[in-house]
Amino acid sequence: MNSPSAFNRALVEKYDCPGPRYTSYPTAPQFHQAFAMDEYREAARRSNQALVPKPLSVYIHIPFCQSLCYYCACNKIITRKSHRAAEYLTYLKREIVLQASLFDRTRKLTQLHLGGGTPTYLTHGQLAELMDCLHQSFDMDDSDAHEFSIEVDPRTIDAEQVRGLRQLGFNRLSFGIQDFDAQVQAAVNRVQSQAQVAALVAAAREARFKSVSVDLIYGLPLQTLASFDITLDKIIALRPDRIAAYSYAHLPQRVRAQRMIRPEDMPPPERKLELLELTINRLSEAGYIYIGMDHFALPDDELVRARGQGTLQRNFQGYSTHADCDLIGLGVSSIGKVGDSYNQNVKELSQYYARLDQGLLPVQRGYRLSDDDRLRREVISELMCHGRVDVGRIEAGHGICFSEYFADALAGLQEQVRDGLLQIHPDALVLLPQGQLMMRSVAMAFDAYLEAAPAVQYSRTV
Ligand code: SF4
Repeated sequence: MNSPSAFNRALVEKYDCPGPRYTSYPTAPQFHQAFAMDEYREAARRSNQALVPKPLSVYIHIPFCQSLCYYCACNKIITRKSHRAAEYLTYLKREIVLQASLFDRTRKLTQLHLGGGTPTYLTHGQLAELMDCLHQSFDMDDSDAHEFSIEVDPRTIDAEQVRGLRQLGFNRLSFGIQDFDAQVQAAVNRVQSQAQVAALVAAAREARFKSVSVDLIYGLPLQTLASFDITLDKIIALRPDRIAAYSYAHLPQRVRAQRMIRPEDMPPPERKLELLELTINRLSEAGYIYIGMDHFALPDDELVRARGQGTLQRNFQGYSTHADCDLIGLGVSSIGKVGDSYNQNVKELSQYYARLDQGLLPVQRGYRLSDDDRLRREVISELMCHGRVDVGRIEAGHGICFSEYFADALAGLQEQVRDGLLQIHPDALVLLPQGQLMMRSVAMAFDAYLEAAPAVQYSRTV
């Protein structure tokens, strides 16, 4: 895959339509309640019986945050009552035991991600308790080849705690930064200094974390090109291994927290495009490689190597270097992916506790993929991870004639071909450098559900 060579504003604008981010296919709106606990157990049973069962990956959702960031559309609970975390941990441990009983103990847990909310809402002692429970319940990969990552809110943790995370086995950190400008930070109610973040990044380097990532958001209130340029200067000076730069979707009708943002502070729509252009140009000049879907990494980062070797994976956290795993989602609202199915836990804390009090798995809905879903998932994943679809491999793997099966999709992509986003050869589909930023508009051609579930419910590219 190539990086976007030059930013073509007219093309980005033309293809800037709402669409899924394809962290799963089919996407979450297709999940339904006919798939629940029993179907999930069955999926786990089948996954154990595979000729070579996949390694395991675990995602744990910690929903609590100490204060509300006004842009945030995540599933979170704002509270300063720390006893709520202790109560949640008790239930989480019950779920770990229930879930672990479904999977063969011989299957190694090689990947772990703690997300939120704010995982660092938990104290070091609580995180240690959580890791202990995982160790007792699963065969954890204790080599440093594992990928154990945690999202860090820099306002909740100090250098000592960063070292503590490394001792617990985490080897990847991701810091939520969003913007360093003081006015922007005040407008979104998330104030954190550059010095605070720099001290944590230095501590992470000293503690030999394998990878440090930072998250940025462009399109926030009061952001200007000049102010974001300074934020990018500061980020580049920190030299994180990975940078995710997300587009802010301002939807105050749907996201209550966003109503706290003053409408007059919002940048005009064309500014977002300029901010994206600035971000791509600055990060490219600084030596970062565009991985795809808002993600950048340094050339020696594993993500770049995996992309070059064709082993990059897409999952709910974005991109990953690890082999295809069965993903167990733990905690309120978590999503899992086991074999040919997806599952999601209940979204309300009270329901989560009630289910576990009854000794039941908190799975609320899910989806079992059909043959057609599996085929389309593979095509979309190839596009998103490698920018190339090997037609012969897909035909051999699924027993189809690609040009016939996808005749409508290929016809629908002619405009993208004319605009230089993509080439369609008899043996391969190849995303061109100009198409990298618009990869999901290409992937959408292979999505069988967009007509029934209009794309408008998704966010835009920019
Ligand atoms: S952005 Fe993160 S810390 Fe802020 S409210 Fe949302 S989940 Fe909590």
